[in-house]
Amino acid sequence: MASDAPRRLTVRTYDVGFGDCFLLTFHYANRERHVLIDFGSMSWPKPKTVKGDYALRIAEAIREDCGGKLHAVVATHRHQDHISGFERRGGRGPGEIIRLLAPQIVIRSWTEDPSAPTDATASSRRGFTRTLLGMQEVAGQVVQAAAGLRGERLRGLREQLRAIGMDNIANRDAIENLQTMAPNRYVHHGSNAGLGRLLPGVRTTVLGPPTVEQAASIGTQRRTDGDEFWHLSQVFWQRLAATGSASGSGARPLFPRHPTGRLPRSAGWYRYTAMKEQGDSLMSIVRMLDKALNNTSVMLLFEVNDTVVLFPGDAQYESWMHALGKPATRAKLARVNLYKVGHHGSLNATPRSLWRGFEQKGGARTSRRLATLLSTQAGVHGDPERRTEVPRSSLLRALKEGSRLTNTQEFAPDELRRALTIDL
Ligand SMILES: [Zn+2]
Repeated sequence: MASDAPRRLTVRTYDVGFGDCFLLTFHYANRERHVLIDFGSMSWPKPKTVKGDYALRIAEAIREDCGGKLHAVVATHRHQDHISGFERRGGRGPGEIIRLLAPQIVIRSWTEDPSAPTDATASSRRGFTRTLLGMQEVAGQVVQAAAGLRGERLRGLREQLRAIGMDNIANRDAIENLQTMAPNRYVHHGSNAGLGRLLPGVRTTVLGPPTVEQAASIGTQRRTDGDEFWHLSQVFWQRLAATGSASGSGARPLFPRHPTGRLPRSAGWYRYTAMKEQGDSLMSIVRMLDKALNNTSVMLLFEVNDTVVLFPGDAQYESWMHALGKPATRAKLARVNLYKVGHHGSLNATPRSLWRGFEQKGGARTSRRLATLLSTQAGVHGDPERRTEVPRSSLLRALKEGSRLTNTQEFAPDELRRALTIDL
């Protein structure tokens, strides 16, 4: 055992509804070190007996739990449900409270780096991050366009478009706060997380996201299925163009509003079909954006002695395949003792091979039994009929049977957070 290694780890799961927010507290002999991983929601929990602004209450709970000092913040990716809690709102927002906890480092994905890398691959990386930003602008237009889908029969589609569109809108307030509250470190698969000095005795491995070059091998492997990793952007713009509304002009609606009330009744069916078609194609576009951003998630693996803790953000299948493709990484993942369930329990964020590989899962109630953390809210994402609901029922069942599951959906109405402590 390293002479200065933490003895215990406490992980607090905050109930943020559909979102993520976790505080890792490493207990050393004479001090504590606190790492906040994400703070955001796209649908706060309800009903709650908590009074006042819910996000502020969570921020205050974090302040209390870390004793007024954070050492590091990790923002896995730029979706609202992971960063909205960092909004400063002119000094009155939850992000102001976090900022005052004076973290010493903020860890983010390489795709967020505002300064272009200087190596030979600069152009492809810069091009990719520019594309992501462009795609995010489209999200705002999708939200507007969703409102134009009228009628009861399109309600489901309208609500899904709005939800995914909102989650993908660029949140400048939160991003600016993250960028300026401490030095930012932009990481990728295999890079140094920069936590060595802050967390002695803890080995932190960055599993993802891969860079454009690292993912290139996967890109060629998966070229045939049209969902090539990191190559989504091309398909994205093509599909957007196909809706007849793609262009740089932000002012133009994605599709024209259909006149309502002025058409004869017999035209109702036509109007519905046309709207449905356009709604469906917008949905495919916004899903691609959603997936592309999820795959920019910072995936961290913490090791202390023989305890392994895994926080993969919302990384989806493609990003996982890059990590799981390496035998040494697979061997390490097999030893995981605590797993933050990817993407709120959606099926494509916990590959079966990953789940099958976890050696500590099972029914035996030993102290080493796999612990899992699921932060989610049903009814926000996906559709049970298409087996895309989040959390996915089959995954939920496997988590319940094979692990000690902490599920925010089971928190009491006044329960802001739940803590889990493991001996290291
Ligand atoms: Zn998420």
